[in-house]
This record gives sequence, structure tokens and C-alpha cells, in this order.
Amino acid sequence: MATVDPKATLKALIDLQKLDQDISRIRQRIREMPQILERRGERFRQAEGRVAAALARVTDLKKQIGLCELEIKTKDGEIAKIQGAQGQSRTNEEFRAFGDHVQRLKKENRAIEDRILECLGTIETIDKELLDLKATRDALKQEVDVDRKQWQKDEAEYQADLAKREGERAGYAATIAPGPLSTYERVLRARDGKALVTADGRVCGGCSMSVTPNDYNRLMAGGQLISCRSCERILFISENAAAGR
Ligand SMILES: [Zn+2]
Repeated sequence: MATVDPKATLKALIDLQKLDQDISRIRQRIREMPQILERRGERFRQAEGRVAAALARVTDLKKQIGLCELEIKTKDGEIAKIQGAQGQSRTNEEFRAFGDHVQRLKKENRAIEDRILECLGTIETIDKELLDLKATRDALKQEVDVDRKQWQKDEAEYQADLAKREGERAGYAATIAPGPLSTYERVLRARDGKALVTADGRVCGGCSMSVTPNDYNRLMAGGQLISCRSCERILFISENAAAGR
């Protein structure tokens, strides 16, 4: 049976608000955790992407080295042929021309060798970076796996807790008269889950506006529910303030 006694109603509403705040926190947790996990998963995927990019660069550099080595081999073949022909030279001029050509090709090969060394140096640098990148990726992967597993367990517990508290809430709500209950629920929605606030020190605990002396006296008398004239939240005197009065 719903109570119509204002004092009892106020007390029931205070308890109801505590329950509603718990319910709201649990719902928020259930809503937000998948998003948090998703963001962590995204960080892992980015780390994985950085590893893949570094590995792709190494592959590309090795391909470049392979091409350079092929080029050197081709030029070496050319050099051997020219040197063979040089042996058959009929004039000094011809001999020198062959020699010049060989020197040019050898110089080109040295430049290609330098390019190979440069590529090898870059690979070495990337390999060192890869150690860190892989360590970061693996740590993130482990974190994501642990978090997901934990959440699978936690979510079931949160859902069970939520169901239990929603059951309790329905029981509580049934003890409160429909009028005050609907006022409470309306203000709760409008005021971010805070429908009841203290009026200690004659100030609204919600919006900090002063409570009029008349309202304060009526509040102390406890004959009716008093709402803040500014934010409409239902006012009450906290037990500490009441005891110290
Ligand atoms: Zn207020």
C-alpha cells in the first residue's frame, strides 16, 4: 500500500534515488565498457598496422637489393666480355676505349654497391624499431584479450545486479503514492538523475539558490513535499544537518 505520509514519502524517495543512482551507474558501465574495449582494440589494430608497414618496408628494401645485385651481375658479365674483346684490340686507341668502358662500368657497380649498403643500413634500423613495435603490439594484444575475457565475466555479473536492483526498485516504487512518484521521476529525468537534494544551510543542494524562509519552515514542519523554486528538485534536510540543528 502506497504511503501518503509526506515524511515517509520523502524517506522512500531518498532510498529510491539511491537505488536509481546505482541502477544508472550499472547501466552506464554496461553501455560504456564495450566502447572502451573497442577503443583499446583500435589501438591494438593501429600497432599491428605499424608492424605490418615496417615489415613491408623491409620486404621492399630486400627486393631493391635483389635488383641491385642482378644489375651488378649483368655489368660484371659485360665487363668480362669487354675485357675479352680488349685482348683482341688491334690498336692502342681501341684498347684504351675498352679500358675506359670497363672503368665506367666498375664505377657504376661501386655506386650500386653503395646503394645496397644504404638499404642494408636502413633494414638494420627498421629491424631495431620492429623490436619495439612488436613488443608494443603484443602487449596491447594481451591487454585486449585479458580485458575482453574479464568483461565477459563482469558483464554477466552487472546484468544480474541490474536485474536484482530493478526488481527492488519496482518494490520501492509501489510504496510511494503516484503523485510524488511521478514528480520525482519527471525531475529525475530532467535533472540528470538527481531529483532530491539537501536544503542544508537553506540553500538548494542542486542549484545553490536560497530556499525561501517560508519554504524552509514548511520543509522543517514536514507536512508536505517542498520543491526548489528554481530547479524544481525535491528538497530534504540531511540527517547530519537535522541532528546539529
Ligand atoms: Zn534548486
